Order: sequence, then C-alpha cells, then structure tokens
Amino acid sequence: MSSHNNSPLKILFAASEAQPFIKTGGLADVAGSLPVALSHFGHDVRLVLPAYPRAVERAIPLKEVASLRLTGALHPVRILEGKLGTNVTTYLVDAPDFFNRPGNPYVDASGHDWGDNPERFTLFCRAIVSIALNHAGLHWQPDIVHCNDWQTGLVPPLLAMEWNRPATVFTIHNLAYQGMYPRAVFDRLHLPAAFWSYQGLEFHDHFSFIKGGIAFSDWVTTVSPTYAEEILTPEFGYGLEGLLHHRADRLSGVLNGIDYEVWDPAADPALAQHFDYKTFNLKKINKLHLQRELGLPENENAFLFGHIGRLVEQKGVDLILDILPDLLEQEAVQLVMLGSGHVSLENRLRDTAEMHPDKVAVYIGYDESLAHRIEAACDCFIMPSRFEPCGLNQLYSLRYGSVPVVKRTGGLADTVIDATAKNLLDGVATGFSFDEPSAAALWECLERVFQLRSRPAVWWEKLATTGMKQDFSWDSSAKHYLDIYQEAMNNPAVNPLKQH
Ligand code: ADP
Repeated sequence: MSSHNNSPLKILFAASEAQPFIKTGGLADVAGSLPVALSHFGHDVRLVLPAYPRAVERAIPLKEVASLRLTGALHPVRILEGKLGTNVTTYLVDAPDFFNRPGNPYVDASGHDWGDNPERFTLFCRAIVSIALNHAGLHWQPDIVHCNDWQTGLVPPLLAMEWNRPATVFTIHNLAYQGMYPRAVFDRLHLPAAFWSYQGLEFHDHFSFIKGGIAFSDWVTTVSPTYAEEILTPEFGYGLEGLLHHRADRLSGVLNGIDYEVWDPAADPALAQHFDYKTFNLKKINKLHLQRELGLPENENAFLFGHIGRLVEQKGVDLILDILPDLLEQEAVQLVMLGSGHVSLENRLRDTAEMHPDKVAVYIGYDESLAHRIEAACDCFIMPSRFEPCGLNQLYSLRYGSVPVVKRTGGLADTVIDATAKNLLDGVATGFSFDEPSAAALWECLERVFQLRSRPAVWWEKLATTGMKQDFSWDSSAKHYLDIYQEAMNNPAVNPLKQH
C-alpha cells in the first residue's frame, strides 16, 4: 500500500481540542500536528473544533463561512474559518450556548463535568456530520472523516445512516474516557431511536458515545501498537474488549509522533540554553536556571528528577509519592513536579514540597512553557503510568535528554528501550522500564538508575544522547494513517444496525 503517492485526499479531522488553540492533554498535541503532517503530503486537510473562547482568541483572524440550523440548537450555529499553520483550514463550531464559557472544555471551575456535555458534544457531532455531507454550504465534501475520542463518537453512526457518506476512521486516545450517560440522556438528544440497541449505542443499559465510534467507523485506531493489544483484554478494555475483538480486523495501533518544531532543544524559545546531542554538556545550564526559577538550591551536580502530567490515578503519581522517602535519602537528589487534577493529589504534592523545600519543587497548574523548561533541565523523567495509550512526555523527554523511567505499558513499552546490560553494551538503550504498577517495582528500577549514574559519566551521556537521536517525527505515522484512510475508503464497513 502506498496511498501517499496517489491523488490528494480531502480529509476532515475532528477533535474537541487542538494545539495551539485549546489543550488539556495529549489529544491536542496530536490534533495540532497530525493534520499539518498530512497536509505536507499534499492532501487537503481541514480541522474542526468547538469554538471555545480561548480557541477563538487564538485562531483570529476568523471569518464566518456558514450558518447552520441543527437539531438541539435554539439558534443558528455559525461556522468560523481560520488556519492551523499555513495549510490547514480550521472550522470552529460557534454555538455560544454550548461552547462560550470560561475554563476547561469538559469541566467547570470546581472540576465537575459540565452537566450538558452530552448536548454539547452531540451538537458538535451534528455540525461535523453536516460538513462531512457537504450540507453546510462550504462547497467541500471530504473523502475521509477522522474522528477522535468520545466527543466525536456519534459522527460514525450518524454518517452510517447516509448513502453518500465519506469514509470514517475513529481514533481512541484513551479508552478510560467513554462519554457514558443514563438512558434518559439518550432520550433527550433526539437521536435515531434505532441507535438504542445492543448493536448500536446502548452499553449495559447506558448510552455510550465511544461505542458509536468503535462500532460504526470503517476503521478503528489507537495511539500505539501495544495499547491496541491491551484494550482487547478485560484489564484495559473496560467491558468494550468484546466489541473491540469483533472489530479486530479493522483495528490498528499507530504511534503518535511529536512536533519537532515545537519540541526542539536546539531552538526552543522557552529555554535559557539551547543544546542538542552534540552539545549535551550544555543541558545542565537549564538545570541551574530551573533550580533558580523554582527556588531549589542551585547545584549542577544535583540529580534532578521530573514529572509532568494530569494528576489522576492513571499516571501513577501516588507511586512517586510512595517512594519519595527513599528517593530523598539519596545524595543530592531533587524532584520537580508540574501538574493539576485531583485535589487530594494536588494537596499531597503541595505538602511534600513544603516538607522538603530544598529538595522538592511543585507547581500546581498548567504551564506549557514551564513544561518545556522541566524537560530541558531534568536528568531523569519519571512516568509510572498504570496504563498509557501512547504518552507524549516520554517522547519529549527522549528528545530533551531527560532519561525516561517508565512502566512497561502501552506507548511507553513501544518507545523506551530498557537499559539492560545488553542494551547498554549494544548502544540501543534509551531509558529504564519496569512491569508492576507498584512502588516496590518503581524503586527497584530507580536503583538501576542510581547504579548507572555512579558509573563514569560517559555511560549516562550515551544513554541520554541515544534517546535524543530517536526519530518520533510525524512523517511515518502520517503515512500509516494515509494507508488506513485508503483501506477505509476501499472497504466500507457494514452498518451494524443493518447486519441482522
Ligand atoms: P494525557 O493525554 O493522558 O494527558 P500525554 O502524555 O499523552 O497524556 O500528553 C500530555 C500532554 O499534556 C503533554 O504535552 C504534557 O506536556 C502536557 N501537560 C500535562 N499536564 C501539564 C501541565 N500541568 N502543564 C503543562 N503541560 C502539561
């Protein structure tokens, strides 16, 4: 298959967040860079997002290109057009009652899901469907609609009802977030009644957005090969493993790439000192700057650990807190953590920093620029996720010479090569990994880190710079998606509601 040599495709990429417009997690990084990478192959790629206030602010200049009447909206829904980069036309779905509110796309200021999320994302899906069928007055019909996560999960089933539909691909970025609601919610959304069935969107007597994407799309993907296998098991499948098995011949894992223009230690505007693998010794200047910025003792020989991420159980931050007493007993160790999320974890982190002001610095909040400086400053990046569909921070860490310490799961297993004696000698090791999601296993792994650290510095430098030289750019992943688009177009799936 080499679809990338064929004629240009028209691709509509639908997501609820995309960098640089709006971001809460890894989905935004993907939705901000994959469309650009696809457009570099000559395809006509357009992105569609809800018009959150922050997205509107960052996407200006915008022009109104359509106004739609959609079920569920009292007022006409405007489509505003802007640009992602130079090539990717971006449509913002402007329904102020649904999207013009402060803060996070999914939760209110107190961290609770917006009560009308099902209405909000059903409306978003209806707008995507309208564009996909060329009903929006944009004079453009895509060949492919690439949907992402549950917020777009109703698009494949709604399109499956149409004879002139484009092909659909649905990517699972995290199966733990499913968009599940009681039956009464389904009833108030005015969706086709036939959707309420075992073959449709009903899931254990509930209504499931993500099931729409999985059951009805022409092809399902997830963001790493290992996670594509893991979600077929009860441990990682959340009850959807049966359906995923059923679709296994149309399920692939495509590793996320990273945007090497945004994450480049040799040109990153957030850094005090640029460096690359040839000038690895300059990296420690960033450590001194970060120590000063966060109020830690300035010491280039301190062994600096870092962690960045959403503070949720998935990410295993509790495991880091559990091993902290042992960690801080080591000579000249420091730890920097950046994150926001569950209040109890935020409080535990704040308390820890207060107890150890000379060793631990914690920043609770979301700070993109600080994330870049942490990646540049650390010796080691700890990422003990219980599960990780792909994970981006370990990829940024590799690029920035911060040796990742990861649990061997999902994308972490696919991207970090453990520093076993053999891998070190062969010069292929890029980090450290462990299997069990326990503090004991993490600690055993860290003991291997300290052992290597005590050897002559060339060993550590070889490990870190081997990581820096890895290629996780979007090119090869974008080619893989293009092959999948072609498959999806050539072999449309049968509507599961019409199979019986
Ligand atoms: P997930 O999508 O599960 O949150 P990923 O590792 O795939 O995890 O992506 C997380 C992205 O969000 C990375 O780009 C990471 O740097 C960023 N990020 C997460 N939390 C923060 C924070 N508090 N401040 C800055 N960036 C953050």
